[in-house]
Amino acid sequence: MLIRDEAGLRLLRQAQEEALRARRHPPTEDFHTRKLSEVWARAAKSQAFRDIGAFSWDSFERLPLTPKDRLKQDPWSFAVGELAEAAKYYETTGTSGRVTPTPRHLEDIVWNTVSVAEAWRSVLSAEDRVAILLPSDIVPVADLIVGVCEYLGLPHTRMYPFATGISDWDRLSGLWSTLRPTTVFAAPGVLMQLTRLLAQRGTLPGLSACVDRLMLLGEVSTPALRTRLGTWWDATAYDVSYGSTETGTLAATCPAGSLHLLTHAHYFELTDGERVTPLPADGTGRLVVTPLNLHARPLLRLDTGDEVEVSSDRCDCATPGSTVVVRGRSGDGLRVRGVGLAIHDVEEIVYGLTTATGYLVEIDEAGTRARILLERAPGSDRADETAAVEAVRRASRDRLGLAWDGIAFLNALPSTTKSGGSQKSWKRTNVRVVESAR
Ligand SMILES: [Zn+2]
Repeated sequence: MLIRDEAGLRLLRQAQEEALRARRHPPTEDFHTRKLSEVWARAAKSQAFRDIGAFSWDSFERLPLTPKDRLKQDPWSFAVGELAEAAKYYETTGTSGRVTPTPRHLEDIVWNTVSVAEAWRSVLSAEDRVAILLPSDIVPVADLIVGVCEYLGLPHTRMYPFATGISDWDRLSGLWSTLRPTTVFAAPGVLMQLTRLLAQRGTLPGLSACVDRLMLLGEVSTPALRTRLGTWWDATAYDVSYGSTETGTLAATCPAGSLHLLTHAHYFELTDGERVTPLPADGTGRLVVTPLNLHARPLLRLDTGDEVEVSSDRCDCATPGSTVVVRGRSGDGLRVRGVGLAIHDVEEIVYGLTTATGYLVEIDEAGTRARILLERAPGSDRADETAAVEAVRRASRDRLGLAWDGIAFLNALPSTTKSGGSQKSWKRTNVRVVESAR
C-alpha cells in the first residue's frame, strides 16, 4: 500500500500517462530535454555529481561516462537525501560478493513498476493467476513483480522455494494445485530445478497443464534454454526484462518475445569505447544509460558494460522502440583452450542438442584443459547419451573451434549450479576452475 495520499496518486497517474503515451508514440526530443534536465538537477544534489553545474545538452554531452565500478565502489556518494526519506531499503550482492546498498524512494518504485507493468500488459491477460518463485527478502526482485500484479489487478502468490521455515518444494507443489497459476515468474535456474523435481515425481504433466507462460528474469536466459523450458512445460517462455538493480528496467518483452528498450524511462546512448553517440535506430556498441526517473540514486551516463545490438526491424509487433539483444557482458567472457566462450555459444549447444537440465564447464587454472558435464534429465534414456555426447563434440568443434577433453552425463550437478538467488553471474554458477580437469 504505497499510495496513501493525493500526491502519491498524482505521481501514479503521471507515470501511467507517460507510459501509455510512449506505447503510442516514441518520445520526442523535447520530452527527453525536460526529463534529462530534471534528473540532472536531482543528481547535482549528490556527492558524485555536485560539480556538474546547470543542465544543457552541451554539458550533458561533455559529462564523462560513469563507470559501473565507480558506482559499485562508492554507492553512497550517488545517493540523494537521508535514508529516512526512502520508502524501501534493499541490498544486492554483486558477483564480487560486495554488497550494494539500494534505497528506493516512492518515486523510484512507482515509475519503474508502472513502466514495466504497461509493457507486460501486452503479454499478460486479465484472467491470469501468477506464481512468483523469486526471493522476497533483502533484494527487490519479487517486490517488483508483486507491484506489477497489484497494478494490473492479477491474483498472485510469492512462493520462493528456499524461504526456510515458510516454503519449500513440497509446499510449493501443494499450493500450485490450488492456485493453478497460468503465469510463472522465476529465475531460469530455479525453474529448471522445479522442472527436474516434478519430472522425477511424475507430476510435471499435471502441474504444468494450467501454465501458459514462463516469465524468466534475474539471470541471463538464452533462446535455447527458453525453448527447452517451453517444451517441458508446454508453455511460452519469455525473457521478460533487461536491466539492473542500479538502473531499473531498461527493456521489457513484447508479445513476440523481443526486448524493446523503454525509451520514455531512459535516455540511451552507445559507445564504441571512444565516441559516445545518441541511440541509433540500428547499431551495436556498449550501452550507456541515463535513467530518467531515479530519485534516491540518480545516475547520469552510466556505462553498463553491456555490449548490445539495437534494431528497428527485428520485431514486427506494434511496440515502439528499438529491440535490444545483449551480446556480452563485461567480465562474463571465458577463454578455454584459446577459444573465447560465451554463455550463448555453450547453451545453444547444450540445450539445443541434448535434453540435459544443466551443465558445468570445468577448466584448469591455465584454461588449457576443459570438460563439460551435462545433467541427465529425469527419466531420460541412457542409451541416447552416446549420440548426444557426439553431437555436442561435433557442434563444439564446428561452431566454436573447441575440442573438449571430456563430455559426460551425470545424475546431478553440484548445488552451486542451481542458483537460488538472482543476478548470479554465469561464470559463478556454470563454470568451475579445478586443479586438473582430468
Ligand atoms: Zn516486439
